[in-house]
Amino acid sequence: MDQPVLRPVPRPGVMEIAPYVPGKSKALGHGKLHKLSSNETPLGASPAALEAYRSLDKLELYPDGGAMELRQAIAEVHGLNPDRLICGCGSDEILSLAAYAYLGDGDEAIYSQHGFLVYKIAILAAGATPVVAPETNNTADVDAILARVTDKTKMVFLANPNNPTGTYLPFDEVRRLHAGLPKTTLLVLDAAYAEYVQRNDYEAGLELVSTAENVIMTRTFSKIYGLAALRIGWGYASEHIIDALNRIRGPFNMNSAAIAAGAAGVRDQAFVRSAIEHNSTWLPWVSDELTKIGLEVTPSVCNFILIHFPQETGKRAADADRYLLERGCILRQVSAYGFDNALRMSIGSEEANRQVVALLTEFLKTN
Ligand SMILES: *Cc1c(COP(=O)(O)O)cnc(C)c1O
Repeated sequence: MDQPVLRPVPRPGVMEIAPYVPGKSKALGHGKLHKLSSNETPLGASPAALEAYRSLDKLELYPDGGAMELRQAIAEVHGLNPDRLICGCGSDEILSLAAYAYLGDGDEAIYSQHGFLVYKIAILAAGATPVVAPETNNTADVDAILARVTDKTKMVFLANPNNPTGTYLPFDEVRRLHAGLPKTTLLVLDAAYAEYVQRNDYEAGLELVSTAENVIMTRTFSKIYGLAALRIGWGYASEHIIDALNRIRGPFNMNSAAIAAGAAGVRDQAFVRSAIEHNSTWLPWVSDELTKIGLEVTPSVCNFILIHFPQETGKRAADADRYLLERGCILRQVSAYGFDNALRMSIGSEEANRQVVALLTEFLKTN
């Protein structure tokens, strides 16, 4: 018998993590590509952000570890106290920092059935147990979440609106969720798509954070700001939470390019408005056109839609994905999110949107 190999063993939970699979970025065909797989914007980044990025020099110097310039800019634009802000390498980092700070062995953390997959990864990586609450109509269900709270529940993750469903909870529902949680349970409101939501009953959570001791809201520059490549996210919470996260983050977690481009980007709200306008035109257009040809679209308030292939079509999402890929359009399969026969599509340029609608129309007619 061979001796067992002695080698380092990761903590319990680590090897249970299914590695996150990002959206594909290459198509099979030739010619022009439309990448609609990661909810990136078709509008590029704000010219002001690009200018700030390009004029960066002094690369030999460490960045400002506190990312003060960026926190100041976010605070000004949103009317917040910069001491209650933390910036991270994408909002993913803020989510992980929160999990590491508040979860450990034996703890539980809840997220909803079709919730963003990064939550499960962060929970397992912190050594805690993920608890899944079922959804109703592809929307988070406050009662189902509250029913799963135990004395071990240390965190609840809610993407509002959620990816990949595009659905949201009206803010009175979020308040009801918060009111039902123990004061020692941290509620994470992931508002990555907040800027896109055009609904009177929606709030990202700024006011709730301002008045509660157990809520953190996370935001990102990867979506509407068009700065995904630089990895910029931020969190807003009570100072005691920000203090805990600051203690465990890398001292220079934000690089100088991200700080400069983010600060310029957040000040360019005209750019954000133009992106909202683009989305307000094309989100309903694509949703309507796809519904007309017999597909089913989950009503979305984001810059993406979840497209289902009803039984009557006799078609599979995986085949549609391949058909589109071969013709230059990259969408996203979402079986990892519990949707076996659906694709997620980011709202793209006019050209991309029209092309996907035309290709899916064609695809449904193939034998
Ligand atoms: C895209 C996305 C994020 C943002 O991630 P970053 O790390 O900031 O790029 C966070 N939450 C959800 C639900 C998302 O879809």
